[in-house]
Amino acid sequence: MIPLNPGKIVGVGRNYLAHARELGNDVPPEPLIFLKPTTALLEPGGTIVLPRVSKQVEFEAEIGVVIGRRLRRAGLEEAERAIGGFTCVNDVTCRDLQRSDGQWTRAKGFDTFCPVGPRVASGLDWRGLELRCRVNGQERQRARAADMHFSIPLLVSFISGIMTLEPGDLIATGTPAGTAALADGDVVEVEIPGIGVLSNPVRSENGR
Ligand code: MG
Repeated sequence: MIPLNPGKIVGVGRNYLAHARELGNDVPPEPLIFLKPTTALLEPGGTIVLPRVSKQVEFEAEIGVVIGRRLRRAGLEEAERAIGGFTCVNDVTCRDLQRSDGQWTRAKGFDTFCPVGPRVASGLDWRGLELRCRVNGQERQRARAADMHFSIPLLVSFISGIMTLEPGDLIATGTPAGTAALADGDVVEVEIPGIGVLSNPVRSENGR
């Protein structure tokens, strides 16, 4: 079961310096945001399907922020108070299409490209959150929320200045260094200690 029902999913790009650098970018002067369709949501244990049109589908482990109350043009403190909980997110991305399209809707919008869960945890301090990613049991990503270029309250405040945030909306706060391509048969796990492990198998549409 998908443990939340967001009206929208807002993603954040290039929010960890080392990841921006590994893709040949710098961190932007302001948060770089995009929307991911809610039809991409996938439950814990659900299968990530690699579409035929991409040769480079990558995992992106991220800390997910779930909005607890309606928010518009909020300052930092109000933004922090409006956080309802945290969850694990995998912002699955077709890296080749992201490059060739010049914007990210197709690259990040395929069905099954937004695994979330296993639960939404409330009462945690964002400053202490840690993020880990494993593929087939091998660690590939590890970072702390404190390593983010733009902090979680700043992201929530910034986004609320653009669009009203509603209870249940999900913000994927960006991925750290270490992203890499997935292959048929892989199992990818995103873990935030204190929240749990989000585990999803991977299958190729090509049957490779
Ligand atoms: Mg991402």
